Amino acid sequence: MPLYKSQTLKIYNSLSGEKETFTPINEGNVGMYVCGPTVYSNVHLGNVRTFMSFDVIFRYLQHLDFKVRYVRNITDVGHIVDDVDEGEDKIAKKARLEQLEPMEVVQRYTVDFHDILNAFNFLPPSIEPTATGHIIEQIEIIKTIIDKGIGYVANGSVYFDVVKFNETNHYGILSGRNIEDMLANTRDLDGQSDKRNPQDFALWKKAEPQHIMRWPSPWSDGFPGWHLECTAMSTKYLGNHFDIHGGGMDLKFPHHECEIAQNEACTGHTPVNYWMHANMLTLNGKKMAKSTGNNILPGEILTGDNTFLSKAFSASVARFFMLQAHYRSILDFSDEAIIAAEKGYKRLMEAMDALKGISAKETSSLDITGWKQLCYDAMNDDFNTPILIAQLFEGVRYINLLKDEKEILNTADLKLFTATMEAFVFDVLGLEEEKSNGNTDKLEGVVNMLIGMRKQARDNKDFAMSDQIRDQLIALGIQLKDGKEGTTFNIN
Ligand code: AMP
Ligand code: ZN
Repeated sequence: MPLYKSQTLKIYNSLSGEKETFTPINEGNVGMYVCGPTVYSNVHLGNVRTFMSFDVIFRYLQHLDFKVRYVRNITDVGHIVDDVDEGEDKIAKKARLEQLEPMEVVQRYTVDFHDILNAFNFLPPSIEPTATGHIIEQIEIIKTIIDKGIGYVANGSVYFDVVKFNETNHYGILSGRNIEDMLANTRDLDGQSDKRNPQDFALWKKAEPQHIMRWPSPWSDGFPGWHLECTAMSTKYLGNHFDIHGGGMDLKFPHHECEIAQNEACTGHTPVNYWMHANMLTLNGKKMAKSTGNNILPGEILTGDNTFLSKAFSASVARFFMLQAHYRSILDFSDEAIIAAEKGYKRLMEAMDALKGISAKETSSLDITGWKQLCYDAMNDDFNTPILIAQLFEGVRYINLLKDEKEILNTADLKLFTATMEAFVFDVLGLEEEKSNGNTDKLEGVVNMLIGMRKQARDNKDFAMSDQIRDQLIALGIQLKDGKEGTTFNIN
């Protein structure tokens, strides 16, 4: 029997503002679309958090034996600077500044994105479509919206008539806004725009002569609007009505609101049953963003090469750090917080190692079946990873008691306990054991010894010796980093 039949999964639906029991449209199958990155620069750790939230959701749905089609796109055209309709395309701008072909920019940052996801142990999505690969589908959707009387052409561009749409539908249903307030709170059009109303959004933009990313269409040589891309790619692979649509909280409005409007305009019904929004990663209390420079690159976590960091951390520690927070809570990044996470992660991994050495006894003194269900209950409650981690630490407590034979398990319970710990730690949370072996431990011991000798040399004001130790270690690919809590090191 598939596992989902014995578990009741609840998902917080941003559309209703409530946790709802998850029932897929087709039993046993789940269609999930998540907005992917705009590949005009390196993904930062905040982007990684959002994708990690959905990676764990994907992993848990698969763990429950659902057959999941997970579509996550690559935005390689149409996303305008500042997320508005007028201005320069983010990718075209980068191409102009660096004197590259736009597709060179796209390739460079798509490769970077994939490298990062591999390093952080993400599962690949089932389909990863690109916006430029779906121009024909987007043009077809625009034609339908125009035919329905909700899209209008102005000077070669096509806009979505939000006011017209709102006569029969509710524009603002996802973000809890209403059109009257929106119109009252926006500046009047300054006469420069082709839009009928400031809230209207672009479906197709006519390209200026100097604009390099352009395709022919019935209205002009131009390019598609950002919101339309996701409508085209989600419905192409998941149908006009699918189960889950996700993205970062900042995409709720206008991006996802516009997606709903486009779909409803075309088909007359809502496209998605469960809208899921992951919360932001902040750095020093401010949103991490590419545009403001307030960010850490994921690769810098692995090298420690950022002024916000006192040392390097493994990808699994970064995963553990992020999954200690619920995906709908804001998470603030700090060096202290990730150092604390590292301690927790190491304790968990040491226990996983110790578990291998525990042997079964005649009877059991622990209720493993009850504990196992608490692990499921945590994930069934809107993918509550912090509660799951708390249950896994209850498991760590069990392991320590079993080691000392203060508690015992019979063969069947020990097997169940081990399988459950492994499933949640490795398959669902996607953590990996640190690849250390006896030699690594010895190397760490030797480097720590040299760090001690360097400190002694410094205390004796023998700076020639302390510099020599540091420089010779650098030559071997070992960097020392002096911090508040003493000296640490990275091995490359
Ligand atoms: P973008 O490449 O800007 O389109 O963003 C890719 C994804 O990362 C989107 O789902 C965003 O909502 C999400 N995102 C952007 N900034 C952050 C952040 N600071 N924390 C978490 N997610 C973010
Ligand atoms: Zn999208």
